[in-house]
Amino acid sequence: MTPEHAPGFDTDVIVIGAGPAGAAAASQLVGLGHEVRVLERSQFPRFSIGESLLPQCMSYLETAGLLETVQAGDYQLKNGAAFTRGAKTTAIDFREKFTSGWGTTYQIERADFDQRLIGAAAERGAKVDFGVTVTDVRPDDQRPQVSYVDENGKTTTLTARFLLDASGYGRVLARKLGLERDPRLEPRMAVFTHVEDYIDDPDYDREKILIGVHPEDATIWYWLIPFANGHASVGVVGAIETLAQYGDSPEARWHALIDAEPRYRQLLRNARPVRAFSELKGYSADVTSLHGPGYALLGNAGEFLDPVFSSGVTIALRSSTMAAPLVDQLLRGESVDWQTQFETPLRQGIATFRAFVDAWYDGRLQSIVFNETQPDSLKRMISAVLAGYAWEQDNPFVTAADKRLTTLAQLCGYSPRQAQSSPA
Ligand SMILES: Cc1cc2nc3c(=O)[nH]c(=O)nc-3n(C[C@H](O)[C@H](O)[C@H](O)COP(=O)(O)OP(=O)(O)OC[C@H]3O[C@@H](n4cnc5c(N)ncnc54)[C@H](O)[C@@H]3O)c2cc1C
Repeated sequence: MTPEHAPGFDTDVIVIGAGPAGAAAASQLVGLGHEVRVLERSQFPRFSIGESLLPQCMSYLETAGLLETVQAGDYQLKNGAAFTRGAKTTAIDFREKFTSGWGTTYQIERADFDQRLIGAAAERGAKVDFGVTVTDVRPDDQRPQVSYVDENGKTTTLTARFLLDASGYGRVLARKLGLERDPRLEPRMAVFTHVEDYIDDPDYDREKILIGVHPEDATIWYWLIPFANGHASVGVVGAIETLAQYGDSPEARWHALIDAEPRYRQLLRNARPVRAFSELKGYSADVTSLHGPGYALLGNAGEFLDPVFSSGVTIALRSSTMAAPLVDQLLRGESVDWQTQFETPLRQGIATFRAFVDAWYDGRLQSIVFNETQPDSLKRMISAVLAGYAWEQDNPFVTAADKRLTTLAQLCGYSPRQAQSSPA
């Protein structure tokens, strides 16, 4: 049965954006009996970057009622991450981890994945408008308003009882309300494309994302994310000025950087690009607050760290599955403390990922990953975080991530001087 909204409002909840965060929130809220309007700027399917999921997100998809549609997608299974640097190759298997729960997930093309999620949310009762761009927002704890422009240039204003901003890189509320703050991560860029990969190396494991490290500059790293159809997403990340030196165009830079890394060069020697070469710069983002009168920010509309451990979609889905029951509580007339029930606990897990991201770029985590002598128990704790279990308070690499990573890196022979230099 399609839910009906409270009288005197145009709908119960407006969700800006139909990416993973918006689709999951909408799906969960209609399941809780509320009417939801999703306003999405693009027409779907549309390309998006962010194609390697983490096992933890499977339980969030389940909570949102979206797991079945994902499982029906015939996507490439993913069970871990492999790492390559110079002659060294190593791997982490997410099924061998400290925390219980899903140990596998998928590598997905987002055009298809996002369409599936929002399609399933619509089937569950969410009302979704595509091709409508939110242009104005008036926050209010009783009656927030949202204005959007459709593809004919017509402006419409809607009222709701609550507003969820899941506009991702659109960052509608952060921009409109001046919430943006320094993300405290160096501005980096990614250059990427999709290829028909033609990888024939019998040692290559399609069930793992492959993360490579540039042989001369350990702050440059590579991703190779194979899909089920023989295509793969291949990208390189580094400081903006550093990558700019590799050529005059995204295509030139991509080729020069792939040529510079021996394992990638060998694996992709027959690869053919199947979409335009793209670049994204300065994508890390943060806000002063993830909530305000009558609204909350989900996924990338709030904070985005860095692509290195594929945490973006997992954090986005986590934020939605935390927010939906709170919105439900509010709409049923109960009080909600968005700071203690949403922002603080959500940010705890993001802080764990941030500690891992920082430790990747300063070299500590690379020392750990490429050193295979650590005890199995510690490996499992790290595997759990990299599998997305960044909110589990019984894992010391969650509760004291930075300290634990520093100590373990030192035991693995890390010294700060090693960070920017060639492989040990
Ligand atoms: C280089 C790179 C690689 C990445 N790799 C990974 C990865 O491997 N795994 C991973 O999990 N994450 C990855 N990410 C992160 C991932 O892309 C995001 O975290 C994820 O897409 C966030 O989902 P979301 O739903 O919050 O936002 P989005 O997916 O960005 O969805 C937001 C939606 O809002 C719509 N919108 C925007 N503005 C408006 C408006 N004004 N009105 C209406 N609609 C609007 C957009 O059209 C879009 O459909 C990567 C990011 C980068 C930069």
